[in-house]
Amino acid sequence: MAAPAPAPHGSFAQRLIDWYRAVRRDLPWRRTSDPYRIWVSEIMLQQTRVAAVIPYYERFLSKFPTVEALAAAPEQHVLAAWSGLGYYSRARNLQRAAQQIVKLREFPQDFGKFRELPGVGDYTAAAVSSIAFNQPHAAVDGNVLRVLSRHSAEPGDISNATIRRKLSVLAQSLLHPHLPGDFNQAMMELGATVCLPRDPQCLLCPVALDCQARLSQRQKEFPVKSRNTRQVLVEQTVLLIQQGAQILLWQRPEQSSRMAGFWELPDPDYLQDATIGEIIGTVRHAITIHDIHITVRQAHITTVPHHFKWFEIANLHDIPLSTIARKALRLKHSKQLTTRTPQSR
Ligand code: SF4
Repeated sequence: MAAPAPAPHGSFAQRLIDWYRAVRRDLPWRRTSDPYRIWVSEIMLQQTRVAAVIPYYERFLSKFPTVEALAAAPEQHVLAAWSGLGYYSRARNLQRAAQQIVKLREFPQDFGKFRELPGVGDYTAAAVSSIAFNQPHAAVDGNVLRVLSRHSAEPGDISNATIRRKLSVLAQSLLHPHLPGDFNQAMMELGATVCLPRDPQCLLCPVALDCQARLSQRQKEFPVKSRNTRQVLVEQTVLLIQQGAQILLWQRPEQSSRMAGFWELPDPDYLQDATIGEIIGTVRHAITIHDIHITVRQAHITTVPHHFKWFEIANLHDIPLSTIARKALRLKHSKQLTTRTPQSR
């Protein structure tokens, strides 16, 4: 019988943080404790590699060195500084959130309050609140899911929302209670530099001794994916604007490359004058490789732009309505009818 593996020295979190402090890359956003600068880096790093982000990050912050400077800038200047990074709604949301922070007169330190800002999802709120304010929230992105699915030899499909939730709970249970920011950065660093998708460098890994995938030499079998594609996380917001029994929608133009002619809930980018209210909830939707997390918020407007239209909610089945809009409306409906289970389709 093989000898048992030696007991790992220190907790998962402590070994990870010790390793991180010894080997971490010197990146510009790691030289600051300014929440604004950390937040900008986290938004830029969504869907963009570290090496590509660095020059944009430095240029953006030389133009908008403070949250006040970003809030006060003309939008065209902000978009110009973002030009080349893509996903421009990230820049618009960043500026809109900066304007809200200026109104608040302080940067929200609390996870929940920061999560309320435009363009901020669970991952971003956890990353910024833990790194800048030591809040105990595990930040879970694709890299972290890969590390944890291997370390625990998770047999479930990573594209399944229940499995991702399970791994998020695991991340939260492993979080260092006093050093959540270092823990989160260390997990991201491990996923980005050691526990690589195709070629995990287990000999360099600080948590190798109790990694279940490595112990059974099955590292490349995890994460389990039924769909053989890498999922890209996209965070988006839509607005539910109601007037009595009516709801406001806009229609995708006929020349749209996707879902032409379908009706959608408004995106806040296109309703700059809307008064945005509380979060109703979050729905998820997958399109090709995109795992879209949609935050649904209540909103009000006083004037309706010409390409928007009111619809009777009771008549929505008469129009082509996007799946995202349907899911968001079901969410609202299920909140109103808490005693009734929504029908599955
Ligand atoms: S031991 Fe290997 S597979 Fe396990 S977490 Fe470390 S790098 Fe990833």
